[in-house]
Amino acid sequence: MEARVVGKQRSDYSITIHKIVVTSDETKDQLRKDQHQCVCERKRQNFCCLCCRNTFIGRISQRCPVHPEVAYLMDARNCGFCGADVKYLQLKQ
Ligand SMILES: [Zn+2]
Ligand SMILES: [Zn+2]
Repeated sequence: MEARVVGKQRSDYSITIHKIVVTSDETKDQLRKDQHQCVCERKRQNFCCLCCRNTFIGRISQRCPVHPEVAYLMDARNCGFCGADVKYLQLKQ
């Protein structure tokens, strides 16, 4: 459900960009390259907090280089258990 809403916003955004910015094939190539750097669709992962040793599944808040105006409210900005900064949240493999 959440992903579908985000997808709609993103397609609206790319349509706007298409009208305003894309004027040549070169620009289109650049746009395609930028899309590749998009982190909006990254998977949820298992994280461990180094402060309280709790683990959780989610995503660490990260600004997308392609869609810097999009904020994901569900992404963690700190540990949900002890409130430690994201730098204490370690990715578990
Ligand atoms: Zn993105
Ligand atoms: Zn913690």
